[in-house]
Amino acid sequence: MPSSLQRFQYLPIVTLALSMLIGGYVFHNTMLNWTNRIVSGYMSGLLDDVAYQIHEHKLDLYSMTPESVDDFIDNLSQSRIGQRFTVIHSSGKVLGDSQLPKREIELLDDHSQRTEIASALNSGFGISKRYSESLNQDLLYVAKLLKLPPAEYDHDTKYVIRMAMPLTTLAAMTNDLEHIIYALMFASFVVIIASSWFSHRKMYALVNYERQQQERRIEKSTREIALLHQLANMLAACNSIKEAQVVVADIIPRLLGDINGCVSIMRESRNQLEVKLDWGGEWPSSKVYTPNDCWALRKGKFHLSHEKHHNLVCNHMSDLEEDGSTLCIPLTAHGNTVGMFHLYFGDQSLHVSEEIKLLAFTLAEHLGLGLANLSLQEKLRSQAMRDPLTGLFNRRYFEEVFDKEWSKAEHDHQPLSLLMLDLDHFKRFNDNFGHDAGDYVLKAISSLLNRIIDENQVACRLGGEELAIICPDTSSHTALSLAKHIVDSVRELHLDLKGLSLGQLGVSIGVTTFPDFDASTEELIKAADTALYQAKQQGRSQAVHSHISEETANVSDIMPLKS
Ligand code: GH3
Ligand code: MG
Ligand code: MG
Repeated sequence: MPSSLQRFQYLPIVTLALSMLIGGYVFHNTMLNWTNRIVSGYMSGLLDDVAYQIHEHKLDLYSMTPESVDDFIDNLSQSRIGQRFTVIHSSGKVLGDSQLPKREIELLDDHSQRTEIASALNSGFGISKRYSESLNQDLLYVAKLLKLPPAEYDHDTKYVIRMAMPLTTLAAMTNDLEHIIYALMFASFVVIIASSWFSHRKMYALVNYERQQQERRIEKSTREIALLHQLANMLAACNSIKEAQVVVADIIPRLLGDINGCVSIMRESRNQLEVKLDWGGEWPSSKVYTPNDCWALRKGKFHLSHEKHHNLVCNHMSDLEEDGSTLCIPLTAHGNTVGMFHLYFGDQSLHVSEEIKLLAFTLAEHLGLGLANLSLQEKLRSQAMRDPLTGLFNRRYFEEVFDKEWSKAEHDHQPLSLLMLDLDHFKRFNDNFGHDAGDYVLKAISSLLNRIIDENQVACRLGGEELAIICPDTSSHTALSLAKHIVDSVRELHLDLKGLSLGQLGVSIGVTTFPDFDASTEELIKAADTALYQAKQQGRSQAVHSHISEETANVSDIMPLKS
């Protein structure tokens, strides 16, 4: 809790305690006034009783000896129950007192100036609170004027009868009530403090819990934002789908936990999608599917298989467990659907929260843009290094790779072979069947080469109908066998165009191998060209190695080849 708030947390309790103290003080005073009024009323009644008795007995108080006045006072029934009465003459002389012995009465001074006596003499009634030196205590005095009929007496017949009551007695009368009230006030104060302490603690715990939750949420979303940012950055830095796979397999599980997911990319033909990236383990369902197999693609918006009102699993996910939820989100970039984002929740299907869905949408947005950039990059790169007619690598790429492979072969002491190909009498196809037929032949032979060569061999079109194949880690004999296999395969290729046979095809191939011929790339290319020229010279549709004689070639032509 902030310290400024902490400072005010006890304010209500302090206010309550203060108001209780003030209330208690006011109550105490009110009680005292109230009891004073009641008690003085009561005392006044008693004084009336005493006055009545004096009248009744027709006492001449002044002529009576102090002893007889005192006896009369002492013997009053009211005095016998412990009340103190005093009879004072208007001159201030005390004539009798129910609680003082006679000799002390004689010693008393003039009482006419006592507040209650003076006002009783003036107005008939007087009241005061004072300390009594004769009884050594605080007393409440109530005095009343007593007037006896003057006819019977020849002296001043004005007397004052006074009754006194110790203030302690008065206080004792209110104490019980005050104690009950104070006990109730104290009990309610304790209850209020205890309940406010309890609710304060509860509230503090709740606020603390909420704050922790809030902090956790902020921490989580900060982490998610950082990871999404990183994902976008890394995807932008990727050069290939292969690199993107490494990135998504590392970053996405940090965001989604062990939820299985994949991204499929729309093929250029737009009639198939292929899973290209996956995370949280290998994608367990179809890796190739048609747009029709996915509800999300059909709807043009995301599709969650298990929802409140339906259980509709996409066709391409039908081999997954029935009660496992799947989420498909179209990946769009620049207004086009470039692929699909799929999640398979498996055991966690019951906990597909809105939070995860939102995260998946954000991820899909990043992946969509990332993939669009990547495929654009790949397209541009492929355009830069491939020949558009045949799809084979171009001369620039050939030179780059050949240099690289040559350095590698030299460093690793591995053989490197080069095949130079030239189609035989190719001009004739153009002349006889038209340029399109020539293009068609070029394409057919290129795809034949792609089928024949291995993954690590690189087929290129150097220009016109001149082709080359770089064969890393390939000995001279293996290279020659490959060349012969190509010659045979081309010879066996019978092509038709618009129902018209294009006739016999032929290719001549010159082969050379490093380090059998320990030379630079330029010299190797030249050697392969010379061998090619030799093949043409020897009658075309054949392969010649720069460093293997015909006889040796036939003997060692035993390598099994891909057919
Ligand atoms: P040889 O057996 O001696 O190699 O005879 P050739 O006719 O194949 O040789 P030449 O070099 O005289 O002719 C090559 C021809 O290839 C010339 C050109 O018209 C044709 N050509 C080059 N590029 C293309 C192309 O992209 N498409 C088509 N259709 N023809 C091309
Ligand atoms: Mg040529
Ligand atoms: Mg030719």
